[in-house]
Amino acid sequence: MLNKIRTPLTLLYITSMGLFSLVIIGIIFAGLNWVLYIERSDEIKALTIAICDEQKNELIKHFYDANYRPGVILEDDRRDIRGQIFYCIYDNNKQLVKTDPPNAAFQAAVVDTINKWDEVSDDVRKETYILPDGQEVTLMMSAKRLYQGNNSIGTVYVGKDITAYEQIFHKMILWLILIYIIFWLMTAVIGYIMSGRVMKPIKDSIDRQREFFADASHELRTPLAILLASVEVVEEEGEKISVFSRQVLLDMKDEIHKTVKIVDNLLTLAHIDEKNIKLVREEFSLKSLAAQVIHSLSPLANAKNLKLCLEGEEAVNVVADRNLIKQVLFILIENGIKYTSEAGSVTVCLESLCSEHGKILKISVNDTGIGIEQDQKESIFERFYRVDKTRSKELGGVGLGLAIAKGIVECHGGTITVESEWGRGSRFIVLIPQRDNLE
Ligand code: ADP
Repeated sequence: MLNKIRTPLTLLYITSMGLFSLVIIGIIFAGLNWVLYIERSDEIKALTIAICDEQKNELIKHFYDANYRPGVILEDDRRDIRGQIFYCIYDNNKQLVKTDPPNAAFQAAVVDTINKWDEVSDDVRKETYILPDGQEVTLMMSAKRLYQGNNSIGTVYVGKDITAYEQIFHKMILWLILIYIIFWLMTAVIGYIMSGRVMKPIKDSIDRQREFFADASHELRTPLAILLASVEVVEEEGEKISVFSRQVLLDMKDEIHKTVKIVDNLLTLAHIDEKNIKLVREEFSLKSLAAQVIHSLSPLANAKNLKLCLEGEEAVNVVADRNLIKQVLFILIENGIKYTSEAGSVTVCLESLCSEHGKILKISVNDTGIGIEQDQKESIFERFYRVDKTRSKELGGVGLGLAIAKGIVECHGGTITVESEWGRGSRFIVLIPQRDNLE
């Protein structure tokens, strides 16, 4: 049970930590991206202003004399010989006046961007191009219109290849993702260990309670047996005791039997909880075992005029703990009888199924009784749970039968489920995987 709590607790911890760190990493990433962008765009704006100051005279000369063509820039005057930093100066007619050309590899792409650049308002753009050789290049470009008095004399486009920065940035993202995954895995391990530590005192306390539960049930058995024996001895007095006293003795015996049954059930549950139940696996005929149980419960069924039927293959031989399976059959058939009104029926079906994991034993106990409401189907397997407390008490139930049946079936690695419709009967289905050989 504690493991069932530990897993969701760990999952909750790692999910919340995972989401929290994802948000932190997202904020770091967005912040870094923004800071780097601002820094680079400030850098290119400053470069643009510097180039405009340098080259303004050339544009003014061209503005007043359309035939004026500035000389070709000598290699020594270039800002960057590889064309990683470049500029292009255009007049108002979009004629190239002067250029410190971009790298030949992305020159065509730059010209294309400039041609499509309509509104110039000192803006900065980041453009990514895929070159014919498949290489990705990212450029940051800025444009500035120049004026002589109130007259526009042309536009200066300045660009810088920032591919290296981008690559570093992408690598950084990959590292962040990797760190995030490592952090997340570490959180999962730490979460699992920590939840185990938190659970330890709870587990110890539950273990102590279980021990007490088992010891108390065990200790109660002896005085109850003595009490029963004493009542039986007094009963043997026969004629010497009054009719009234005999009735009191009978009632006492009845109550002691009920108490013994409850104590036995509690002890079985304590053993199931402590995983202290040792399965004595043996091969036996399930059909004859079911017939025995039906035979011993037939007086109860006859008293209510109920039909008790057994269906199934003759040779359903199983390997399991015979006594425990008998107890499961007893609980389910007795419940079927208890919760079915007069003239109904209780049918036990036995089947051996084949699945990809091997043979599976299927026991279904069907009745035509009161049925179980949809929202109660899970709860009826809990300890001391009764749908109708008064009715169940009148029928001698305390709400432990199905909890024991479930515990026994699960010890065999199986499952127990119920299909039912309120007022139209119930079907309890037990599935137990079968091992081919005895251990
Ligand atoms: P109890 O000793 O009260 O029968 P169980 O654990 O065997 O305790 O069953 C729990 C509750 O499930 C019962 O109180 C009853 O309300 C319901 N129940 C069990 N079997 C049936 C059945 N065959 N038909 C309808 N209700 C059932």
